[in-house]
Amino acid sequence: MNVQNMYINGEWVPAAGGKTRLQRNPATGAEICLTAEGGAEDVARASAAAAESFKAWGKTSAAERAELMNKAADIIDERIEEIARAESLCSGQLLAGSRGDAQSVSSILRYYAGIIGMMRGHSYNQEQGITTVCLREPIGVVGLITPWNAPIVILINALAPAIAAGNTVVIKPSSITPLGTAEVVKCFADAGFPAGVINLVLGSGETIGDAMGNDPRIGKISFTGGTETGKSLIRASASNVKLLALELGGKSPVIVFEDADTDAAIDNIMSMIYSMAGELCIAGSRVLVQSSIYDAFVGKLADRVSRIHVGDPMDEDTEMGPVVSEVQMKKVLGYIETGKAEGARLVTGGHAMTDGEYAKGFFIEPTVFADVTNDMRIAREEIFGPVLCVLRFDTEEEAFDIANDTIYGLAAGCYTKDLGRAWRFAKTVTAAVMWVNTYGPSASENAPICCLKQSGYAVEMGLECLESFTLIKNVSFMEEPIMFGDFRG
Ligand code: NDP
Repeated sequence: MNVQNMYINGEWVPAAGGKTRLQRNPATGAEICLTAEGGAEDVARASAAAAESFKAWGKTSAAERAELMNKAADIIDERIEEIARAESLCSGQLLAGSRGDAQSVSSILRYYAGIIGMMRGHSYNQEQGITTVCLREPIGVVGLITPWNAPIVILINALAPAIAAGNTVVIKPSSITPLGTAEVVKCFADAGFPAGVINLVLGSGETIGDAMGNDPRIGKISFTGGTETGKSLIRASASNVKLLALELGGKSPVIVFEDADTDAAIDNIMSMIYSMAGELCIAGSRVLVQSSIYDAFVGKLADRVSRIHVGDPMDEDTEMGPVVSEVQMKKVLGYIETGKAEGARLVTGGHAMTDGEYAKGFFIEPTVFADVTNDMRIAREEIFGPVLCVLRFDTEEEAFDIANDTIYGLAAGCYTKDLGRAWRFAKTVTAAVMWVNTYGPSASENAPICCLKQSGYAVEMGLECLESFTLIKNVSFMEEPIMFGDFRG
């Protein structure tokens, strides 16, 4: 069976301890390959290589870095299909979605290659011939820890700005979905990046992720994952007061007012939760619907959701694939039982799919709960599965209160034709990324997204994200040396 090794200091190497992990296809249960199962020793090897290569990479010109990044983007474009297949095979994500993600990887790389020169420093001219300059410099070694959902897009959102700013990196993908990431790293290797600039370690979060948190050579970690894991990384990274960029969970509200285009709202809401089997951080998993249109909305939504075609993500006709693992399937089914016990009304779905083609995979029916109240666990906790909760409200104020009654602050949506209300939504609801009369599409790579509340505090996209992978040094120059004259002796 094929073994996917780690990439450390320009070489594909097995784990120092020789261990491997079996990767399985979540749609069929079939064995895919083995992956190296690294440990703390491998993290040490990778961070030492990254620290050594930083000495030269940190001094390269913006043009040199941009040229290599554009070359890697060209190679990625030639290998979209291989990358997408590897990604879907281990994650269960729809193949069409993975193709789109692979295309995003090359376009985000090109975007950051193009804006390196825009990084800002300032100078302050002061009295008495002193000029203070703020020098912007790379941090050094940056760790990138990514989750099992949308792995390559989440990777590139941090990898591209990190290397563009002149840092070297140690990448740690989720141990259950590392294959698309390994294909992307191969493109960087083939583009000719110097040894040690980009390193890939494979293995479990508890050992490798924790070792990265504790490694003093790593100056910053960009982490995307669950809120509780983020909190444990904060504790581990205290060892060397590491910088952290955290992108954590969400339980995002979508508010549908009575004047909304409900067909568009239902269409958009379904796309953003079911096309990735609910495994999307910005999924609008709490839908708040105004009482006057509530029953009609729930009926139409349930009808459309019940007709979603669930199947193998490699099949082009499939509209929703499996969830990522047996562990995740049990967790989601547990939440469905909780929802029933809490008194929510199950209007469609609610079961594991175990017959015929579904028997060996981790399939769950697309599920809608109506009459959910915001105190229920299914409304408060991130389920990360194909489960939508529909809540009822009467007034605008009540809708905004419910929307904000969550520990998370990741995303929010609002459907209304009333411009004033749309504006009040934007000002009143606390979320990092918000949409009015749509849900999900990103308008521009230039526009930064800053996580809020317990969804973290990372900045993603835009010049602001590039600059977040730099440090500022405050340096003052005196035209001519002068005596301060503070002492008489
Ligand atoms: P986890 O928090 O379980 O894992 C995220 C990553 O952290 C994985 O690589 C994991 O490795 C690793 N990890 C696990 N334990 C530790 C540790 N102690 N120290 C350091 N790293 C560790 O998240 P999931 O993979 O389950 O991903 C789903 C979560 O990610 C959801 O909460 C989702 O909302 C969030 N997310 C947030 C996004 C955002 O932009 N805000 C975007 C996408 C997802 P391993 O898998 O090997 O255990």
